[in-house]
Amino acid sequence: MTPQLDPQLESIYQQVIQRNPGESEFHQAVLEVFGSLGQVVKKHPDVLENKIIERICEPERQIIFRVPWQDDKGEVHINRGFRVEFNSALGPYKGGLRFHPSVYLSVIKFLGFEQIFKNALTGMPIGGGKGGSDFDPKGRSDSEVMRFCQSFMTELYRHLGEYTDVPAGDIGVGGREIGYLFGQYKRITNRYESAVLTGKGLDWGGSLVRKEATGYGLVFFVEEMLKVEGQSFDGKKCLVSGSGNVAIYAIEKVHQLGGKVVACSDSAGTIYDQNGLDLDLLKEIKEVQRARLSVYADTHKGATYSEGGNIWDIPCDIALPSATQNELGEADATELVKNGCKIVGEGANMPTTPEATRVFQMANVAFAPGKAANAGGVATSALEMQQNASRDAWSFEHTEERLAEIMSHIHRNTFETAEEFGTPGNYINGANIAGFLKVARAMEAFGVV
Ligand code: GLU
Repeated sequence: MTPQLDPQLESIYQQVIQRNPGESEFHQAVLEVFGSLGQVVKKHPDVLENKIIERICEPERQIIFRVPWQDDKGEVHINRGFRVEFNSALGPYKGGLRFHPSVYLSVIKFLGFEQIFKNALTGMPIGGGKGGSDFDPKGRSDSEVMRFCQSFMTELYRHLGEYTDVPAGDIGVGGREIGYLFGQYKRITNRYESAVLTGKGLDWGGSLVRKEATGYGLVFFVEEMLKVEGQSFDGKKCLVSGSGNVAIYAIEKVHQLGGKVVACSDSAGTIYDQNGLDLDLLKEIKEVQRARLSVYADTHKGATYSEGGNIWDIPCDIALPSATQNELGEADATELVKNGCKIVGEGANMPTTPEATRVFQMANVAFAPGKAANAGGVATSALEMQQNASRDAWSFEHTEERLAEIMSHIHRNTFETAEEFGTPGNYINGANIAGFLKVARAMEAFGVV
């Protein structure tokens, strides 16, 4: 069931489908934003007259390139590289790189589109972009990953720059990959241009808290939602899907704030530990050994691992989907509601399907969309750029405080915008409208460019 759109928005949406055939994830992300813009076009007809919406849906530049590399046995592999430079109204293109076999143009475009509004919500001077490759790092040695990254950067470097386009990590791209990418960029350009990539190592221009930022930021945002109801994380039972960087640091912050995360997952199965997950063990498995989650139950007898199990069947107060797009469907949402879940905060990008989102809204579950709730990662990337620009390095405490302030500001902005546009409590509308208007105002100021 497609939601009813304003007729003018409907016709723009049909154009988007026609111009971008087969890109279902991109269509989904566009439709989600359009669903919030009905009141906006009534109140601000200029955005239609100036064709701001059509312009926002068309990336400023899309780069697709061949990435050849050799594995440890000398066999040649060919992957496809992408960088979609979507919108630079507020600053240089900013957004991560994703290395995962599921990557194709539509996935990068949906992520890049989301990134425009997310980055606007942070209040920092960053535009929106995204990139990546269908390269699968799973099971690859460090030297294979290095050769892939070097080949990828050998093409991409010419499009990057501190004032042009600043990539970072996403799924499959962490500190190791950023290191190889930065090393190759530095070698080719003969420039130590720190702010050309974020998520760097702490010894060479990285920022404290960047690794933790998306997960911590998500939990700070949900804490603000709880405060609205006069509540806190204390004693709350939580589920965090995934076990990557976002999930691990969301779990850490929930535990610091007195909540209990009883389950997390990877693509093979789910771990349930009713006493609360052992985070040190989880970090050892995922960050040091790069192993499967099933190892957790081998060493931790109180826990159960279910192969192919569904995390959303476990009763909870708060659910934080932090794995990947469309991981939480209608049946999962129905189960969560039935089991008493009251708050959902998206740590991943677009993890909840449109049908599942509707189930939550009908059941009055407070729902925080990723573009607001997971903006702490990219916001801290912008703080990393600030530190690079001033050749400074801030303390953990100071950086975390800045992150907390930014998340609280995003919460207030989305909450108040939802109210102003007649849908109190609807964080989806709040985030889409506040993000959109900020970008639209800048684009109008620049004229037809
Ligand atoms: N990939 C992250 C995101 O989805 C972070 C991007 C960045 O730090 O530039 O927002």
